[in-house]
Order: sequence, then structure tokens, then C-alpha cells
Amino acid sequence: MRKILIFILLSFVIFAFSLLSTAQDFPESSAQINPVRDKSLNGVKVLFSPQDNCAQEIVSSIDNAKSYVYVAMFYFTSRPIAQALVKAKDRGIDVKVCLDKEQPHYEYTKSKFLENKGINIKLIGGSGIMHNKFCIIDDYIIITGSYNWTVSADLKNDENLLIIESKEIARIYKEQFNKFWNGTFIDTCKYKDKNRLEKVPVATGVTLPIAKPSYKGKYVGSKNSNKFHYPDCKWAQRIKSKNQVWFNNRQEAIDKGYIPCKVCNP
Ligand SMILES: [Zn+2]
Repeated sequence: MRKILIFILLSFVIFAFSLLSTAQDFPESSAQINPVRDKSLNGVKVLFSPQDNCAQEIVSSIDNAKSYVYVAMFYFTSRPIAQALVKAKDRGIDVKVCLDKEQPHYEYTKSKFLENKGINIKLIGGSGIMHNKFCIIDDYIIITGSYNWTVSADLKNDENLLIIESKEIARIYKEQFNKFWNGTFIDTCKYKDKNRLEKVPVATGVTLPIAKPSYKGKYVGSKNSNKFHYPDCKWAQRIKSKNQVWFNNRQEAIDKGYIPCKVCNP
């Protein structure tokens, strides 16, 4: 009889504990989860633009930085985020920004603004474009996703953004960032698997004649930059027609304060 009583008591204790641990696994009942605000799951915040105000989330993460903010970004035009970085630097936070080497050619880029405000910038070139979009804060927070730090990413494009709290992942990202920063990152082109490249389907068949566009001058620059190009330079092609400034010769461009593009060497 006593044995049965002890057995029942033990079973009850085990049952009670199992209930408790289940409760710890799911601390929020579904009724408590706010579908809009509570997107934080196991230390990962999942956000989508344009609906989730990603820029504001990034700004508040930067505002809360205690020791450093390291950024590797392909395209950076966001004014509020650039201002948050400057504010962080001014309160003594170590701010470093890696951008793709072609970044100064882009319209609306914040690379000059950041440089003028004393932010440490490195332009990264290699086999391809530096297409990363990540930020590490204080050995603890990683911000990454398809989201470039641009106005378009925030207001127009469909992008995703993760804000991850993890010392381990931060360590891995910081290692990669340091390779960029110290110039020790490996040109991955040398390591590309040739067999894999051969498997990439190559378009065959009809080649459409490319219509030669007519240009309004021999060289072109942008109202938002001081570089001038041959009109067929890939950077010239990115200049919106409303921002184009045309020149008939080099001297005309130089006289107007423009300098030759380093890519097309006009
Ligand atoms: Zn050019």
C-alpha cells in the first residue's frame, strides 16, 4: 500500500514538473503575441520592408551601441542611418564602414557625407562586387538581410531584415568584417569551382542586334557627382536622364569641375 502511495506521489511530482517546463518553452500564450510589434523570436527579430520600418529599427540599434558599430554594405544612401552612425561616432563609439569600391560613383551615396563627418571608410574591391549587407554591434548584435541601407529598400522594395542577438554569430561576422577591413579577405574568384561554372546555362540561338543609343554629347556627368564618363560606361548608364550633364569634349567637363571616371578613363 505504501509503495503504491509513493508511486502516485512521484507520478504527480513528475507530471507537475513536465507542466512547468512546457510553460517555460512557450512563455507567451498566443493571445499575448501582438502580430505587428512582437516579431522577436529566440533573439531574432524578423522584419520586412516596406511595412516594418526597418530604417528606424536599425537606427535604434545603432543608438544603443556601447562600444562599436561595424558595417559592410553594398549600397548606402539612407540619411537617418548615416546620421545615426555620425551620432554614434560623436559619442565615442568605434564606427567602421566597408562599402563596395564603386560606391562613390552611385547617385545619392552617403560615402562622401560619412567621410566628411570623420567616419572610417574602406572601399572594398575584388573579383565581384562587395554585395554584403551586414552590421555588427558590440560583439552581440548582427543586422543582415537583403535590405541595403537605402531609401528604396526602406520605402519601395520588398526586402527582408534580421536583427540577431548572438555572441557566436557576431564573432563569425566580425571575423569576416576584419578580413575586409585589414585587406586580408580572399579573392573568391580563384576558388570558384570550374565544373560548377560550366553547368551555368548559356543562352544560345538568336542574338538580337543591340540598337546604338544616340547620345547628346561625347561625355556625360551627373548633377550629383563630380565624375564624367564615356556615355557607354556602366556608371554613366546609371545616371537618370534628368540628372545628366553633357559635354562635347574633356576640357569642357574639366572646366566645369568634373574629373574623369576611374573605370572608363574618359
Ligand atoms: Zn565611367
